[in-house]
Amino acid sequence: MNAPTSHLMKTYNNLPVFFTHGQGVWLWDEQGRKYLDGMAGIAVNTVGHNHPRLVAAVQDQVTKLIHTSNLYKVRYQEILADKLVELSDMDNVFFCNSGLEANEAAIKIARKFGHDKGIALPEIIVYENAFHGRSIATLSATGNVKVQKGFEPLVPGFLRVPLNDIAALEKTVADHPNAVAIFLEAIQGEGGINAARIEYLQAARKLCDQKGMLLMIDEVQCGIGRTGKWFAHQWADIKADVMPLAKGLASGLPIGAVVARGAAAEVFGPGNHGTTFGGNPLVCRAAIETLAIIEGEGLMHNAEKVGHRIRSDLTHALSDVAGVVELRGRGLMIGLELAFPCGELVKQALNSPGEYGLLINVTADCVIRLLPALIMSETEAHLLAGSLAPIVKNFLAQQAHRQNQAQAA
Ligand SMILES: *Cc1c(COP(=O)(O)O)cnc(C)c1O
Repeated sequence: MNAPTSHLMKTYNNLPVFFTHGQGVWLWDEQGRKYLDGMAGIAVNTVGHNHPRLVAAVQDQVTKLIHTSNLYKVRYQEILADKLVELSDMDNVFFCNSGLEANEAAIKIARKFGHDKGIALPEIIVYENAFHGRSIATLSATGNVKVQKGFEPLVPGFLRVPLNDIAALEKTVADHPNAVAIFLEAIQGEGGINAARIEYLQAARKLCDQKGMLLMIDEVQCGIGRTGKWFAHQWADIKADVMPLAKGLASGLPIGAVVARGAAAEVFGPGNHGTTFGGNPLVCRAAIETLAIIEGEGLMHNAEKVGHRIRSDLTHALSDVAGVVELRGRGLMIGLELAFPCGELVKQALNSPGEYGLLINVTADCVIRLLPALIMSETEAHLLAGSLAPIVKNFLAQQAHRQNQAQAA
């Protein structure tokens, strides 16, 4: 059979598999092959595929009202905002449609916060290996030249520092009186599952309090219960001033949100920001249901328990294997760093022989990333780790063999 020409832009190097349906953490493709989903659509399908409560809520809402625009009030926006404010102990919310839009709104809040204080050229402190999205402003904030290359000139006004270096942060703040915000992921996702340390988050909070700066914590990937708390920075017992959310918030319906507190919550007035689709009744309903399912089914506790199971299974299976650098993460946000670039493992796992394929991801070249749905059971976690470990072992044995051959030659 000739492969038909695709009329899609070549923005993705995606794998040649078309999924038709899913159930829980399982997916099926057009040929009827089964896959264990260790990715949940990049931390999006929070409650798994085809969750009966989510499906019922979305079906009900589709028949009632999908969209009316922000020219009118939207009841489900109010309800969802109440819930997000309760969970974060912050003050108010702006709804948009994606992670980059939430971050774009955060950047605008920081800049206007600066202008309102009389700072004409406000600067925002951002991080090496950060990922905040692919709009021109958010790719400028992103700390990965591959994302930026070809799209210069970048947006000015960002100061870059290394993660977890308190002295470097203090020096940057001291040297730049125009710095108005510190903007970081509580756990870097695309950057390779690098957590901001508890002490670091607390130091950043203190510095922001002392200097009247905003602490803006991108929880787009690590938020919504994935690490065992609603928001990953809550492990440090601190509050953000601005918190962008997206990915897992509505279990697959496209929604973004920026939650704000204190002065940051008062920055935007009518006309300062907006979006046509943002916070429509359908996506808000899905988000409300997602949060209710997380609470009702104890999914944050489950994420911690099941994440622990995956990590301990992998540790056990790979403890004496050369080429394993580090296993890290919290809850169901897991990174396994190898000593070699391992992008080829994604395809190997997908096509692994046996009863089912495996959906995993590789980020930052050498880090295998797992982001399963929060409904994953311990049995399924055991299957995931048990299927992944031999693939990793086999790969590392091949790499060692290649190295030996190269040395012998
Ligand atoms: C995915 C991601 C984004 C961008 O979200 P999009 O919905 O793809 O625009 C921003 N920040 C973080 C931390 C992310 O993981």
